[in-house]
This record gives sequence, structure tokens and C-alpha cells, in this order.
Amino acid sequence: MRPIQEIFPLLDKPTNIAITTHQKPDADAMGSSLGLCNFLIQFGHQVTVISPTNWASWVNWMPGAKKVLDYELQRQKADAVLDKAEWLFCLDYNHFDRTKGLGPRLASLNCVKILIDHHEAPDEKSFDYGISDITRSSTCEMIYDFILASGYKDKINTEVAECIYAGVVADTGSFRFPSVSANVHRLVADLKDKGLLHTPVHEALYDNFLENRLRFVGNVLLNRMEIFYEYNTALIAIPKSDLLKYNIKTGDTEGLVNYPMSIQGIKLVALVIDRDEERKWSFRSKGDFDCNTFARKYFEGGGHFNASGGRSSDPLPETVKKFKRAMKENEAQLQ
Ligand code: 5GP
Ligand code: MN
Repeated sequence: MRPIQEIFPLLDKPTNIAITTHQKPDADAMGSSLGLCNFLIQFGHQVTVISPTNWASWVNWMPGAKKVLDYELQRQKADAVLDKAEWLFCLDYNHFDRTKGLGPRLASLNCVKILIDHHEAPDEKSFDYGISDITRSSTCEMIYDFILASGYKDKINTEVAECIYAGVVADTGSFRFPSVSANVHRLVADLKDKGLLHTPVHEALYDNFLENRLRFVGNVLLNRMEIFYEYNTALIAIPKSDLLKYNIKTGDTEGLVNYPMSIQGIKLVALVIDRDEERKWSFRSKGDFDCNTFARKYFEGGGHFNASGGRSSDPLPETVKKFKRAMKENEAQLQ
């Protein structure tokens, strides 16, 4: 993988560009994709954002979201875009297996592939150019840095700024995680200087659910959460019946994993949701418990040191048992 700076001289030569991100894109994935899209279209490029799957409705406010293609629903259109693409951007993921059914298609493309990502263990050989930096708070922060380094800072308009800010807010837990550097605060100051209105972005991300979702959260905290004080660990296991009963849609479970973190002494939170095709795990930790290694070792996953995800093909009771065994094996690290 060659340094990303090498593409800067080509930025003003109009090209067909596809931007892709990970499955079930969150605010950083969608924010970085649309932030970059809104930047690149100003050069006259043909730019299309393709998501491997559907996404949460609370990112639909982002400028350009209505034009994003869902690979599962709009495969023909997306394939036509990929056929013509000269550049493929890969944002907020670093391995094609994070793009579900889109993965084999992306891997087989012959165009120039460019990675911008902040997760552990990038598959560098799959990309021609790129930047992978696990110290960055978010892929949106990296898009901001990319734009600054390219020399086209003047192209950070309101659309670009809103998308970037949304991803930074989401991936930093509203500026609280250790990944928040002075660079992040300078970025926010700069976006504010450019006229960014931050309150509507927070409201669009966090005050934008239906009543059923809040009642679902109440049910989960009351009935589906177990605390293991001897391991400083909380576990939430959500059966499919709860998702059906409360009419839960993509994105409604975002943030649930953070609630048990507010309990004194908790070091690790694990959340598992019984989805149709798999059991999807989320892990969050405080301090020196390594969620990335834990997810890789036990649940075919990965991510960051303090936030990761994984999956299992086992039924819910079996994968929960596996987690409890893993928790016990990691007793020393959880003290
Ligand atoms: P979340 O729990 O919010 O879904 O994900 C937390 C972090 O782990 C995110 O940065 C996400 O991209 C990453 N992540 C989630 N699931 C997986 C997975 O199955 N594999 C890998 N490698 N990373 C994941
Ligand atoms: Mn991210």
C-alpha cells in the first residue's frame, strides 16, 4: 500500500469514483463516505456511495444520503457503478470481509483501491494507496486530515462539515474516549469557524428515535442484563422475540452497549443480538482490557482496543455460554 499523498496530484482530474464502507454503516462510516463524496463532487468527479447493506434511518439526514446505493437492494445499479469505477475508496473498514456480499466483488475489481481507516490489523495487500492509523478517533477525522493535506481546505463546505462532525461525535462517544486528541478539538473549532451548526447534528443522531425504541431499551435493561461483579463484566443478550415485539429496526440497538458502562467498576460490556443470519456481538471496555484481541480470539471479529465487534453462527444460548467461558478465562485481565 503506497502513501495516500500520491493521489493528491490526480484529485482535479475528473474520474469515476465509488466509495464503499462497512456493512450496517454507522455515523462514522456514513459520515466519512458522504463527507468525502461531498468534497470530491466539487472537482467534477462522478461519485457514488455504495453501502453493502441497509443502514439506520438516523443517518438519512446527511447531505447526499438519499443517493447512497444499498448493494442488497440495488445490486444492478451498484454493479454498473463498480464496472465503470476508476477509483474505489474503502472507508472505515480494512478488510473486504467487513462488506458482506459486496466483498468478493470489491476484491475482484481491477481499479485503483484507496483505504482510509482507523481499525486494527489492515489487510494492506488489498489496497493500492491508503492510510491506516489506529490512533485516529474516527475515519471522519482522517477524511478531514486528508482534505487539509490535499491543499483543498476551501472545499470544506457545510455539507462536508456536517458529515465529518457527525462521525467524530459518534466514534468519540461525544468527545469522551481516549482517542480524542487536540487535533480532534482543533477540527471542531475549524468546522465551527466555517459555520457548522453542531446542535442539529447531535439532535439528528441522538434525539431521533420512536417511542418503541425507548421502551425496548427499558425492557433490555430490566430483563436482559446480567452483571458479573467478580469479573467486572456486564452482559446483555437480546433474543429475536424482543426485536419483533418492539418492532426494532437497523440502528435502534446502537448505543445500547454503553448503558452498563455507567455502573461503578464495570470494565467490560458485551452485547449480543440474535439476528436472522447470525448472532452479532459488540464489546466495550474501559482501561487496559483489549476488546480487539478478545473479539478476534473468540468471536471471529475485531475493531479497536476499547470497542470491537464479532459474530457467531451458534444459537443464542450457546454463544452466551461461550462468552461466559471466555470471560472466566480472562479473569486476570478483568481485575
Ligand atoms: P459496534 O459494536 O459498534 O458494531 O462495533 C464496534 C467497532 O468494532 C466498530 O469500529 C466496528 O467497525 C468494529 N466491528 C464490529 N463488528 C466487527 C466484526 O465483525 N469484525 C471486525 N473486524 N470489526 C468489527
Ligand atoms: Mn469508525
